[in-house]
Amino acid sequence: MDSDERAYLAAHRSHDADQLLKSWRSVARKADLQIVRLLGGGGDPVIGLRNRHPVQGNGLYLSAGIHGDEPAAVQGLLQWAENNLQSLRERPVVIFPCLNPWGLSNNRREDAEGRDLNRSFDCPGIPIIGAILDFISERDFAVAVSLHEDFDANGTYVYELVRQGKSLGEDLLERVEEIIPRHRGRVEGMIPKSGVMRRTRGLMKIVRELVGMPESIHLFLNGARSALTFETPSEYSLYRRVQCHIRFLEGVVDLIGPGG
Ligand SMILES: [Zn+2]
Repeated sequence: MDSDERAYLAAHRSHDADQLLKSWRSVARKADLQIVRLLGGGGDPVIGLRNRHPVQGNGLYLSAGIHGDEPAAVQGLLQWAENNLQSLRERPVVIFPCLNPWGLSNNRREDAEGRDLNRSFDCPGIPIIGAILDFISERDFAVAVSLHEDFDANGTYVYELVRQGKSLGEDLLERVEEIIPRHRGRVEGMIPKSGVMRRTRGLMKIVRELVGMPESIHLFLNGARSALTFETPSEYSLYRRVQCHIRFLEGVVDLIGPGG
């Protein structure tokens, strides 16, 4: 463990939803993003961010914290944004910093009503799902990124939904593997190829098996050119997991090119 890691682990507030909100307000101000309260008048508001003015280029959808017990995803997205204000100003972006702040505060996967929101994108009657769908309507995304963590994983891996063209997943995992190696073994009965679970077809069958619509499949079926779900192993050091999410997002932006 080096001194950066030791300092981070001693001081982090990775389940503090209030602190998170303050930090994102600051990002929004500096990157000229509009910050919208999607849900929650009192405690634990859910927020979304998007460009205040129209921007040309490749749209990016970024989300974290739909499962509240996956704090590295939430912290990684924030730290990446704080380091990339210029990029946020120059490309069309939609960001959901933490879709389940109640879960983050309580270290729970599900929301306060016991629902798995990542199996609920076919239920617009659930207030937060309806609010997300409204917030992103009329927007096209080159890449949709959902950041997650997995308690059963022994390394990083990625689900990649893509229609055609080059896979991004392999390149992205190569960038993060010096921090945490790739997962080895099965994931949900399948063996990822070098950590990449690439899918192009048969998505409705997956939705039926999962008994609910995940965020990434919804976005892909509704026009995102590719959808990436990145997973870090929950039992590794929080510091390293956060660094993986930062490196992964840097890689995504690198690979899809400039916004203009
Ligand atoms: Zn998750």
